[in-house]
Amino acid sequence: MCGIVGYTGKKQVDQILLDGLKTLEYRGYDSAGIAVLDNNKIKIIKKEGRVDRLIEETKISDTTGTCGIAHTRWATHGKPSDENSHPHFNHSKNFAVIHNGIIENYQSIKASLIDDGYIFSSETDSEVVAHLLERDFDGDLFNTVRNVAMQLEGAYAIAVVSTHEPDKIIAVRQETPMIIGVSQGENILASDLSAIVNHTNTFYRLDNGEMAVLTPSDTTAYNLDTGKRIVKEMLTIDWDISQAKRGGYDHFMRKEIAEQHEVIENALRGRLFDDGQVRLTELENIKDKLINARRIHLIACGTSYHAGLVGKYIIEDLLRISVETDVASEYRYRNPILTEEDVLVVISQSGETADTLAALRLAKERNAPVIGIVNSVNSSIAVECDSVIYLNAGPEIGVASTKAYISQLLVLNILALYLASIRDVKVEDITEIAKDLLSLNSLAKKLLSEDVVIKEIAEHIKDHNSCFFIGRLIDSAVALEGALKLKEISYIHAEAKEAGELKHGTLALVEKGTPIVSLMTEVSVSDKMYSNIMEVKARGGHIILLTNDQEATSELADDLIVIPKIHRYVTPVLSVIPLQLLSYYTAIIRGNDPDKPRNLAKSVTVE
Ligand code: GLU
Repeated sequence: MCGIVGYTGKKQVDQILLDGLKTLEYRGYDSAGIAVLDNNKIKIIKKEGRVDRLIEETKISDTTGTCGIAHTRWATHGKPSDENSHPHFNHSKNFAVIHNGIIENYQSIKASLIDDGYIFSSETDSEVVAHLLERDFDGDLFNTVRNVAMQLEGAYAIAVVSTHEPDKIIAVRQETPMIIGVSQGENILASDLSAIVNHTNTFYRLDNGEMAVLTPSDTTAYNLDTGKRIVKEMLTIDWDISQAKRGGYDHFMRKEIAEQHEVIENALRGRLFDDGQVRLTELENIKDKLINARRIHLIACGTSYHAGLVGKYIIEDLLRISVETDVASEYRYRNPILTEEDVLVVISQSGETADTLAALRLAKERNAPVIGIVNSVNSSIAVECDSVIYLNAGPEIGVASTKAYISQLLVLNILALYLASIRDVKVEDITEIAKDLLSLNSLAKKLLSEDVVIKEIAEHIKDHNSCFFIGRLIDSAVALEGALKLKEISYIHAEAKEAGELKHGTLALVEKGTPIVSLMTEVSVSDKMYSNIMEVKARGGHIILLTNDQEATSELADDLIVIPKIHRYVTPVLSVIPLQLLSYYTAIIRGNDPDKPRNLAKSVTVE
């Protein structure tokens, strides 16, 4: 995920691009850069770090051009550095390109370009586009960009400028967002509306497999496959700038919940195939150790720890290998039984969590291989572990983690399938698991659109001092995450318990009307769960039932949330969505700012 912006018109472009990048910075802040057409040359200025550094750098330059493109990066391939920053040049410096997404087949393209004598100056997947443009240029910029785009696999929003047609920007969209703002004598493109809203309130969205050509006087959309012109529906922006930054949502947290279906695609892309084959080239260097490992330790903090608990159920069930889970702040101090025959998996959104980092260092001292499951490229954990699997979820701004959790669940599923494949464990229902993982995007999208019922439930719990979350097996791990979300942003005391444990104490706290969020998706124990719910109901508890039983009725539940039925390993990705929404709406009704919960910070770099 990154922010891209492009402008062609009459005004001096550098300031417009920098302003646009500033509003898009929440999409990525590893580095930033601009490319400006100036006296029939392309001038690129790019810098590692935040947009402010680029602004400083640009002050001393003397660009006067009126057409250009810009990028703020969230690294996926190659560390954050000046070289890896976008825009990227081809050798003759007559094309500049910016890219948002991942080009899955970049390695084979790169190899063929190197064979043809092209020299790469970055480690990114994106740079292949610049060289392909040079290699395949046929005298017509539109045709060339189109031919190049047809060679790419994966996800991309690309914008290209060239000295061949100096006031033109050509854009292509496949899976990652691209908006075209339409105005008089100037046109602008961007990853989202926040960078456009200051210039125009008329825009259209490029859909997958579409291209756009922008000049100061015109913008036209085309179908990538056929090359034919298409007519796009013009839309109007009715938000203010601060809302636009949050994609029209009131809060980053709500936006991040809403974009989870995209995040699902990003976590699975290039890693899982229809037939259940998995590819994790990231783990090749420790493959032998993984084949022989006796035990796996899944160590993390907070939400990442809850993802680890789900991972434990899946890996143990699938591989029959013992998995230990612990919070990093305990694990590091308790002299764990950890040897070189074990594998440590550390999970952290930021990759900077101090206790998790300490657990990683402990494993290194004991010669145990370490896998990091991390969102931030080149973060401390990413750098220090032996192999890193990136979440590719893009920056998470809301303090309460939502989309990173879902990505972690997906990566853990992929890791489990990968371990099964290299350890020759036959997975009977592999095609079902793969099918369900690959269907999650559309299922999540549908679930996200049905939030009316959740708002009503939030009204039911808003005035309570306490709320309980219960479940069995994998549901009990998701219950922990549901309770954490509710407490951290609504400030209602929320406690998760394995449903069978209720009668050993917690049941004493249930009184008339106490909200009990009851997760019942684990079919093998649904009778037991039913009995536990009846026990709570008998004490007057208000049952909010979350189930995948499509026949469920309100006989058992006071409030009912029904989610699609899919494989149990994959179900948490769906069951957590209503719980995230419930905590969000409860926080809003109680007048809290969910993006800035009191006493909490996003990246916990202290012990
Ligand atoms: N994959 C590209 C890179 O790592 C683009 C990342 C992005 O979308 O910011 O440079």
